[in-house]
Amino acid sequence: MLKKYSSGPVKVPFIHSKLPDLSTTIFTVVNQLANTNGAVNLAQGFPDFEAPQPLIAMVHEAMGQNYNQYAPMAGVLDLRETLVQKIEKLYGKSYHPETEITITAGATQAIFTTISAFVNKGDEVIILTPAYDCYQPAIALQGGVCVPVELTGIDFRLDINKIREAITDKTKMFIVNTPHNPSGKTLSKNDMLALQDLLRNTNIIVLSDEVYEHIIFDDLSHQSAARFSGLAERSIICASFGKTFHVTGWKIGYCVGPETLMQEFRKVHQYNVFSVGHPVQIGLNNYLKNERNYLSLGHFYSEKRDYFLNAITSSRFTFTPSMGTFFQLLDYSAISEATDMNFVEYLIKEHKIASIPISVFGTSQQQRYQIRFCFAKKKETLDKAAEILNQI
Ligand code: PMP
Ligand code: GLN
Repeated sequence: MLKKYSSGPVKVPFIHSKLPDLSTTIFTVVNQLANTNGAVNLAQGFPDFEAPQPLIAMVHEAMGQNYNQYAPMAGVLDLRETLVQKIEKLYGKSYHPETEITITAGATQAIFTTISAFVNKGDEVIILTPAYDCYQPAIALQGGVCVPVELTGIDFRLDINKIREAITDKTKMFIVNTPHNPSGKTLSKNDMLALQDLLRNTNIIVLSDEVYEHIIFDDLSHQSAARFSGLAERSIICASFGKTFHVTGWKIGYCVGPETLMQEFRKVHQYNVFSVGHPVQIGLNNYLKNERNYLSLGHFYSEKRDYFLNAITSSRFTFTPSMGTFFQLLDYSAISEATDMNFVEYLIKEHKIASIPISVFGTSQQQRYQIRFCFAKKKETLDKAAEILNQI
């Protein structure tokens, strides 16, 4: 229970907000609404099942072994070595463990720090919409100008010509996200090659958000920016252990990039967080030694996706199966013409099921009747959700 505090007549300084138009993130808004209405929560992206016990034991063990003081600023070197080996094996790109990788407080910090390190006042940053919601405020805080470019059509296609048209001599950064939240779309090798060609001979820095790199389905392979030398040389690539090991609450991730970029990144990182949880880094390093712990993730989540989709085939929602992430978009145009925000609110209040309206990420007209469901849930939760969805 929240304790009630009374606020007396206090004088607060006048605040000139740096983000005057920004409201509370949709995840907090929908969670609150879901909680007050006792709704089955498939909104915010987090697993409702337990984190792996062996990983928890490894972190406990590290705490018992007294890894309880500050970790090195860039992260535990053993962990960085394990990660660069993993990247080399998976994507064929070698990063230097001392100078080209930094362990961060989740991908959110890696993204914020990257934007802070490189975007100056008036610089333009191209984002692909719908775009995950932490990019835009970080750009605005630096005085940067966000330039949205639509992922096209109902199937969220990358349109290289639209990106080309958006590039100006002020473009400082290009942000890309694959597998993509909220659409569940993944970029193809040809998409990445086209981006590589487009950015060649420019000074544009790429921020590649790859937090769902291991959650990819149906024999697709993750097209990391690390695979493409012309992209890797200009990219900071962000990853998150929260997604990969079912521990979103631990807020730990990392980023890799060429030394010249990483040097600038660390100038900000060192005075922003300095370093992140030491025992967690030791535990993660041990857990990463067994590659099955992350390579099995695509199969694990494709089973959940299929379970969920099979359970709702008799509903009036329509869908194209997600290609990656733990999100599934459902189209409700056969049920209602309400805005997605109103429809989500209606579903929570009247049917006790919570999802995310994706218009908050910047959707086009064609994409307007889709809402996002997270299937990183126990079977019981997916069963309950399906039972509700089938009756709507
Ligand atoms: N990028 C995307 C696309 C995400 O979905 C998320 C969500 N969790 C993040 C970044 C942030 O990751 P973290 O929780 O590690 O900060
Ligand atoms: N990435 C998660 C999602 O898309 C949410 C994380 C957050 O709440 N900031 O649902």
